[in-house]
Amino acid sequence: MPIQAYGNNLFTEWQGHAGPVVDVVAGREIIDCSVCGFRHVIPLPSIESLQETYATEYYRDEKPTYLTHASEDYEWSTLAFKDRLDIFESQLPPGRRKLLDVGSGPGLFLKYAADRAWDVHGVEPSAQAAQHTRDLGLAVTQTFFGPESAADLGTYDVVHMNNMLEHVPNPRELMSTAADLLADNGLICVCVPNDYNPLQEVLRENAGLAPWWVVPSHHLNYFNFDTLTGLIQTNGFEVIRQTTSFPMELFLLMGDRYVGDETLGRACHTKRKLFDMTLEQAGQGNLRRALYETFSKLGLGREAIVIGKKV
Ligand SMILES: [Zn+2]
Repeated sequence: MPIQAYGNNLFTEWQGHAGPVVDVVAGREIIDCSVCGFRHVIPLPSIESLQETYATEYYRDEKPTYLTHASEDYEWSTLAFKDRLDIFESQLPPGRRKLLDVGSGPGLFLKYAADRAWDVHGVEPSAQAAQHTRDLGLAVTQTFFGPESAADLGTYDVVHMNNMLEHVPNPRELMSTAADLLADNGLICVCVPNDYNPLQEVLRENAGLAPWWVVPSHHLNYFNFDTLTGLIQTNGFEVIRQTTSFPMELFLLMGDRYVGDETLGRACHTKRKLFDMTLEQAGQGNLRRALYETFSKLGLGREAIVIGKKV
């Protein structure tokens, strides 16, 4: 319940979370939580209430084209996969190649890493996505990641979390659990949407767009580079690298209003893939990586990707 005014925003508390309300979307409040150190929805759903959604409904109802698109995007996706594995291998001695992918989805990153001689294991709540992973011949535990399910998973050199931390009601607990699974000097790699970024705010304030990135039915948490870095550091990691992916807001700023237009959205996605692939094919992969690292230092880019080393 709102208890006091805080600047232009109401200051709200809920079950140990507290902060100014930054948005109300679909009747749900987003607070800049001073307890968690990042923005999230309140009230947060229970883990139990999310289990049915992610075990059976998510890929069937919310993301029916996800597996098809993931396969179509595979060659492009391998650019980011390669970038990440190159960094992991530069930080870890040979012989330390054990990776846990938390929220492994259809298993494509696991497949790429396994093909590069990594010993991989996935954790994925979706029955369909877990089956897809098994069909690739890879090991996956179909469950929600957490302290209890992690007890049987063993120890790893890398924990990878790609587009999962925004979905869960307990990111702080999951980061702590991930840290416990890592051997000394192990690496954590987290990728989440980069939300409330400066270009999104420009579009909201000057182009009349509602905050389209706020989707409280699925995204409970809204990170940027600062808050993701803070979460990682709080759990005993030294941040060694940050980067991003193509700033999709550039299309909106240039007039391609893809919000709510799935066909145009897919067309813009195809263009950004072409941008990345063309640079790669021209032998300019280093330029692409430098460009995205530079964007990330400006707080820009569609995703916040941060790698930490356990110290
Ligand atoms: Zn909080």
